[in-house]
Amino acid sequence: MKRAYNFNAGPTALPEAVLKKAESEWLNYNGTGMNVMEMSHRSKPYEEINNQAQALLRKLLAIPDDYEVLFLQGGASLQFAMMPMNLLEEGKKGYYVLTGSWSEKALKEAKKIGDTAIFASDKENNYTSIPTLTNLDTIKDGSYLHITSNNTIYGTQWQETPKNVSIPVVADMSSDILCRPVDVQSYGLIYAGAQKNLGPSGVTVVIMKKELLERSKDTLPSMLDYRTHAKNNSLYNTPPTLAVYLLKLVLEWAESLGGAEALEKKNKQKANLLYNEIDESDGFYKGHAEVNSRSLMNVTFTLENKELTDAFLAEAKELGFTGLNGHRSIGGCRASIYNAVPLEHVEKLAQFMKRFRSK
Ligand SMILES: *Cc1c(COP(=O)(O)O)cnc(C)c1O
Repeated sequence: MKRAYNFNAGPTALPEAVLKKAESEWLNYNGTGMNVMEMSHRSKPYEEINNQAQALLRKLLAIPDDYEVLFLQGGASLQFAMMPMNLLEEGKKGYYVLTGSWSEKALKEAKKIGDTAIFASDKENNYTSIPTLTNLDTIKDGSYLHITSNNTIYGTQWQETPKNVSIPVVADMSSDILCRPVDVQSYGLIYAGAQKNLGPSGVTVVIMKKELLERSKDTLPSMLDYRTHAKNNSLYNTPPTLAVYLLKLVLEWAESLGGAEALEKKNKQKANLLYNEIDESDGFYKGHAEVNSRSLMNVTFTLENKELTDAFLAEAKELGFTGLNGHRSIGGCRASIYNAVPLEHVEKLAQFMKRFRSK
């Protein structure tokens, strides 16, 4: 059977090498005679998996020692609430930059926890770009500034970290973590559901400055208190063991390719193939994102009208391309080209776009 040309937005393609490795260890992980799913999370082999995954992530993202790395559950969606529960201080505000639906959802949850404010928004422009932020050094009454580093639905991405912010920057990096090197020290906290760039669904990565743990209050339920997970090496309760194991395999794969810098190079190459086709098409394909806010991970575009868009999607589907429909909220087309999507698959898509246009 042939593998699909997988452009799903998430969950999505995993590296073939990772799936094969998991398959080879399926019945007998490392001489244990068990699948990872079958062993105790308190066993030595599992503890090693947990520690190796952490160490690899630290290495690949150059995470400094004064940051915690946590493996949690509940997806990025739980972090929308859990982060303010821990970080939003009494009498202060959680500031949000709105750049798409996920930032809106993050704000909606924070509002239930405490005081919030919108620092900047691109909603009026239908989320086609990342706003330029000014006066960042003057936010005094804030607990944090929340951004969404990549907007999965609209196909825009922050090109650089906001600098000189007087309060901790919190980033939802669910759809672009490890697509490029990141200056972790510019952030107070980073969170990401794994199912786009890091592995399967079920595990959520939180990278946070240790000193921010001091903000959590004893009234928080244990499972919603970052300190619980930090103290227990993310083994407070039963973790999603299979997801963490696959996360480890994906990180090993990323390291074998040369790490974040090599991945960025490959991601730029892939994204350029599609953006060049959009730009050369003389308006046949219309990119949603402004050129200077384009995402390396989600390439969003429409064709002239709904009939043509539908014809494009139908023909693509017949040829084995999966997941090219835009998000139900904005329609059109979206090619999600996360780390694990092979260059050859993107080449095939660019060729198809060209053929479809000439026809
Ligand atoms: C997919 C996605 C989410 C939602 O993640 P869940 O793990 O399903 O909660 C949140 N933020 C961004 C940017 C996403 O791409």
